[in-house]
Amino acid sequence: MDICYKYYMDNLLEDSHSSSLPTPVCPVGETCCPLVAEVSELRENLDELSNLVRTDTLTGLANYRFFVQELGQEIERTQRSMQPTSLIMLDIDFFKKVNDQWGHEVGNQALKHLAKLLQQAVRRLDTPCRYGGEEFAIILPDTNLAASVPVAERIRREVETNPLAVDGKSLQMTISLGITTYTDMTDISVDELVKRADEYLYEAKKSGRNRVCHAKIERVDNVTVEEKQALSALFGGGAQKD
Ligand code: GH3
Ligand code: MG
Ligand code: MG
Repeated sequence: MDICYKYYMDNLLEDSHSSSLPTPVCPVGETCCPLVAEVSELRENLDELSNLVRTDTLTGLANYRFFVQELGQEIERTQRSMQPTSLIMLDIDFFKKVNDQWGHEVGNQALKHLAKLLQQAVRRLDTPCRYGGEEFAIILPDTNLAASVPVAERIRREVETNPLAVDGKSLQMTISLGITTYTDMTDISVDELVKRADEYLYEAKKSGRNRVCHAKIERVDNVTVEEKQALSALFGGGAQKD
């Protein structure tokens, strides 16, 4: 029994991060092993807990904690693979008025509605997150600035044209968005990356709201990894970084 127990516990802890585990089987071939059921239940509980830890309870999106972790990983991946990662920060325009006019509960419904629109508008690989309050973030792996601008524009339009129905009335919202892109030539922290996207978001607010702001799209942003490598081979290490 002791050996069985150790086997199960080692197995459970080792694999607790995986969500698609095979059903545990008794290592000594017992057909009615009481530990099998216990381990299965513990695994389910662990799965549930790890989902809770990374999910925002109101919207069901990834929460701030998961966002920071995921963005850190994407930055590291960009440094290794040279594939850019884009970050969109967005904030609901005049959301205080929504709460004032419709009440806090409807405000919460509006946040859930927006979360659903975001989920529908992004690719499977992208991660929409609730950054906090009525501010959201979307991580777009393998996406340069030129490719992320149409995504942000599409999201802006979707929100503008899909009001929330509340008791036969229509609650229309708009959002402002800021984008920044991390490339293998960027050497900044997660915090700094968020700060840059936030600065563009602030610019979108300042210049009239319901719009997308970002840096000027440079030609180099459209250069593929293969092209960069070819340039590097032609001109040496630093040439492609200008
Ligand atoms: P701006 O266009 O400048 O962003 O204006 P705003 O009114 O959206 O900005 P402000 O930061 O003044 O207000 C944000 C509001 O969002 C205030 C706060 O009560 C509300 N809010 C934040 N989190 C929640 C939430 O979980 N539920 C609801 N209903 N409201 C929230
Ligand atoms: Mg706002
Ligand atoms: Mg805000």
